[in-house]
Amino acid sequence: MAARRISGFISRSLSSSIASPGRTCNLRSEIQRFSTAAALQEPITPPVRINYSQLLIDGKFVDAASGKTFPAFDPRTGEVIANVAEGDAEDINRAVSAARKAFDEGPWPKMTAYERSCVLLRFADLVEKHNDELAALESWNNGKTYEQAAKSEVPMLARLFRYYAGWADKIHGLTVPADGPYHVQTLHEPIGVAGQIIPWNFPLLMFAWKVGPALACGNTIVLKSAEQTPLTALYAAKLLLEAGLPPGVLNVVSGFGPTAGAALASHMDVDKIAFTGSTETGKIVQELAAKSNLKAVTLELGGKSPFIVCEDADIDKAVELAHFALFFNQGQCCCAGSRTFVHERVHEEFLEKSKARALRRTVGDPFQKGIEQGPQIDSEQFEKILRYIKSGVESNATLECGGDRFGSKGFYVQPTVFSNVKDDMLIAKDEIFGPVQSILKFKEIDEVIKRANATRYGLAAGVFTQNLDTANRLSRALRAGTVWVNCFDVFDAAIPFGGYKMSGIGREKGIYSLHNYLQVKAVVTALKNPAWL
Ligand code: ADP
Repeated sequence: MAARRISGFISRSLSSSIASPGRTCNLRSEIQRFSTAAALQEPITPPVRINYSQLLIDGKFVDAASGKTFPAFDPRTGEVIANVAEGDAEDINRAVSAARKAFDEGPWPKMTAYERSCVLLRFADLVEKHNDELAALESWNNGKTYEQAAKSEVPMLARLFRYYAGWADKIHGLTVPADGPYHVQTLHEPIGVAGQIIPWNFPLLMFAWKVGPALACGNTIVLKSAEQTPLTALYAAKLLLEAGLPPGVLNVVSGFGPTAGAALASHMDVDKIAFTGSTETGKIVQELAAKSNLKAVTLELGGKSPFIVCEDADIDKAVELAHFALFFNQGQCCCAGSRTFVHERVHEEFLEKSKARALRRTVGDPFQKGIEQGPQIDSEQFEKILRYIKSGVESNATLECGGDRFGSKGFYVQPTVFSNVKDDMLIAKDEIFGPVQSILKFKEIDEVIKRANATRYGLAAGVFTQNLDTANRLSRALRAGTVWVNCFDVFDAAIPFGGYKMSGIGREKGIYSLHNYLQVKAVVTALKNPAWL
């Protein structure tokens, strides 16, 4: 139904495509291609209504205590699409009280694990039923393509919940063979009230990575969504209620970082905080946690991931995957392959093909079929990306293509490729979080290992080679939480994800995420008659 409505909009919008100003690199005709391909005058109307914009506290949608609201925007135009209740410290207090009560007195940790698992499974079914609405909301508020949201991210939300539903009744401790006349067992218990702060680049997936395991383990939750993308967490939370989640088990507070986020991280009655976002904010969250009640902290932070193309790589495949590794989700991925290291013997061929691929990338309204790249999230990120592009040009990297905004409205950026990038340039050191590929040349494996590791980050890495020994050597030498060999951005529910160094603490997804939401209690019972031993 939604798909039909969208294709109707597509044909209308295609006929209204316009030319828009291009600039920078001297490849005028190429820029022309960018400009005319899909710059739409009239954005396609998303096939969804915004029904939930209040805070969810104790099972009810309510206004913020202050009565304040803040705008949620459409990144295609910069226009307001909804006014959302703006939670702050007082609302966090209300939400934490509800979560505390639901944990201490409420049914959730006391329900059987099987009953909990059934709630998660019913939720996954509801996500499938509402796939198109969730995807449309996600695309509308974030700018990611509707196709990506509908075919990959919303299905992954259901998949992750089914995965954690499977774990719920398989969590158990050990019987420990200790010295002496004791029976020793470990109980794996939920931690209590979990605070969760999520970012705007994958709102529904970050919801899944955090809420799924926390619920499976029997915790209750206060989740703060990102101020840029508050809408889908509220919708998903409503579906969890419909699936039978008791009131107070999941509370969602929309609002800003320094107010609502900081109040959550420093709350004395929150037992654990899980955060995904920038390294700078991660440091603040850890400090707030330490200064308040020393709550447990997991952090998933920034990255500047190397993508290494060896001389024996399948070049066409490597070009396509390096392109995907960087440009996917408008380049707004913490694990983006944002330093493309290419062996000098294949560098020229790789560069030509990468540039051609970037020039073929379709940019435009994310609701239009066939579009690969939508707008950046907001004006702040958009301006920041353009500043980084400027710094690349000023530091004498070669701008191969792109380099400017796309169209004249909203936050679109042309797919941009730099060559002749040196390790000490800002574009090779900082997380740009945009569609800007930096290609660097290397000669020796030892050299590329050193250079790839010479960063404060350690989130992910990509390795392209057909030689097993080279693959083994690189995957062991690279200091990163994930190494993808001849692939990139493979995010199965069971695969752990997290960072070395300043890319974070702890792992999410898979069995590893359960450790974040469980405490281990040792129960030591004296045996009455040691002779029984
Ligand atoms: P970005 O710069 O990409 O927006 P942030 O790390 O600032 O990334 O934001 C990620 C999440 O952290 C968002 O939900 C944001 O509101 C929250 N946040 C930002 N500042 C703080 C803070 N001081 N304390 C707690 N949370 C914060």
